[in-house]
Amino acid sequence: MYKVLYYIGQQLRNPSINKWLKFLKESDGWSREDLEAHQWNEFKKICDLAYQYSPFYKEFWDKSHFHPDMLKCLDDVQKIPILEKAQLLTNVASIHTNRFFKQTYTATTSGSTGDSLQFKRDESADSFNRAAIQRGYSWYQVHPWEFSGYFWGFDFKVWEQFKTRLLDRLQNRYRIFSYNEHSFKKFVKKIEKARYLSGYSSMLYDTAKLINSQQLEKPKQLKLVVGTSEKIFEAYQEEALKAYGSKIISEYGATEAGIIAFECPEGHMHITMEGVLVEEVNKEILVSNLVMQSFPLIRYRLGDYVKLAPKEFSCSCGRNHRIIEEVTGRVGALIQGKGQQYPSLYCYYIFKNLAAKSKLILNYQAIQEEKGKLKLLIEQALTEDEKLLLLKACENYFKKDLEIEIIDSYQAASRNQKVNSFISRIKNET
Ligand SMILES: [Zn+2]
Repeated sequence: MYKVLYYIGQQLRNPSINKWLKFLKESDGWSREDLEAHQWNEFKKICDLAYQYSPFYKEFWDKSHFHPDMLKCLDDVQKIPILEKAQLLTNVASIHTNRFFKQTYTATTSGSTGDSLQFKRDESADSFNRAAIQRGYSWYQVHPWEFSGYFWGFDFKVWEQFKTRLLDRLQNRYRIFSYNEHSFKKFVKKIEKARYLSGYSSMLYDTAKLINSQQLEKPKQLKLVVGTSEKIFEAYQEEALKAYGSKIISEYGATEAGIIAFECPEGHMHITMEGVLVEEVNKEILVSNLVMQSFPLIRYRLGDYVKLAPKEFSCSCGRNHRIIEEVTGRVGALIQGKGQQYPSLYCYYIFKNLAAKSKLILNYQAIQEEKGKLKLLIEQALTEDEKLLLLKACENYFKKDLEIEIIDSYQAASRNQKVNSFISRIKNET
């Protein structure tokens, strides 16, 4: 019955999804050459469209002496000026193309730092995203109408909750609404029969921990656990494996950029090359969306550090889509030492080295409230020796320029938004 309901709902909301699904199932088996040829075609089209119909791109590119006619092959993408997040936020209206779309949806980015963005996504681009996610699910034999548990933000008013519950019910999905033990336990009971779980990886992890520590009934019918939006820490996987019998698979994307990559059963994140063009420039990701016509996004600096696998690397799953080896973290505010500044990526390296060299796998959040000082909130309890080890690792990167305060056994009191691995509370000094 849910299958029928799902189809009806889908047809109403996303009439072009079947076309995309069919296409993506086919291109799943394409060669790299075919994929790149397709990317080139679509990229050229979207650049022409942006120049012609988006007042912002016309002006921006003219000023930077770029014209779409200068694109002769995919490598020419480097000739296009990079689009910064700040530009995106201040030019929302003029980035929209002045073309007519039968159906659009308002998309809102979460913007944990207060810079939330709202734009119109055309139906075709919306359907592409959904189809790309469904294709990822299909790698695990999961159908979207199967019973699932859903972990997402808690910011709901009563009426919103009611509406959301009703919609979830229609989609055969059960969602957790508040962050307390009682609802978590109820949730765990409910997902015993779930075929897949999806949502914030920190919540998937918290639930796994609860199941393990209180020896609750484990869900036994899970085919897939997908984490989105947040970094999946290594320590999450141990608890996930124990509780779910499966590690957390990574779905990588962003509201404004669309779905960027999905992890295959061999553990590699394949880029959705049919929908995005991804570049790695100075360890950062630049993304161009190939399907969104209402709000073109071209060479956009998303703000994540990534590492692409070498071009020639081939995955044993047989897919030829390029692979993102790692999303190493958000390009955040800089860490301010007494004398110098450091990229927040350093924290990532410190904890990665600790895990690799000393087998010390920690969940952390770094917070800076004051120049020259850094607080490390560590979820695990640490011995004195381990604290010293951590301090030593920090010193390798920051020397004596930064005072480190370690707070271990730290439990987040409430999580109503996604977890960032580095937060700076220092006001910008100009
Ligand atoms: Zn693969």
